[in-house]
Amino acid sequence: MPTPSEAAAQATGWCDGSGWLATARACPSPNFGLRPDGTVVDLIVIHSISLPPGQFGGPEVEQLFTNRLDWDAHPYFQQIRGLAVSAHFFIRRGGELVQFVDVASRAWHAGASHWRGRDNCNDHSVGIELEGLEGGCFEPAQYATLAYLCAAIATRLPIAHVAGHEHIAPGRKQDPGPGFDWAALRRDLGWPAASFPSLDISAPIHR
Ligand SMILES: [Zn+2]
Repeated sequence: MPTPSEAAAQATGWCDGSGWLATARACPSPNFGLRPDGTVVDLIVIHSISLPPGQFGGPEVEQLFTNRLDWDAHPYFQQIRGLAVSAHFFIRRGGELVQFVDVASRAWHAGASHWRGRDNCNDHSVGIELEGLEGGCFEPAQYATLAYLCAAIATRLPIAHVAGHEHIAPGRKQDPGPGFDWAALRRDLGWPAASFPSLDISAPIHR
């Protein structure tokens, strides 16, 4: 018989109490580290990415996050040559979920950042990449997976905040951008408004 906590973990899809989600396709990345001792991981950071930008469905994002991208395969890749980055999760246009890093570990997605009183958001956040073009729109299947994923993460970690990369690194980053529907995510999750960026930041919520 599983204990109640094990049963709860299975119900939300975590593998044997680990920080790997059974409902995600595992694509382990070497780009991660330890979180500082005692860190309260209470932030989800939402990003958008596509490689080359605007092209969806290829293997390049997974190759980037696993240090297998051929830098010479496209002119754009010269701009990111040598980059060693990762996120915990990637949600493809059809809603498929890929996981690169255990949520217990520190992924390399935020860079120099600050949110609600703390710097270095990689320390205390889970990073989720949506396949998309910064400023463009995202698919209903992606919102559905994102809401499931955020709720699942909140069963393992004391998530209190959700923000975009653009909010934690203003002026330096613009993703996911104005095409991301924060109101839809908030509605899907049913979490308090205070958990999200100020609603006047993103225009599409008024539609
Ligand atoms: Zn980003």
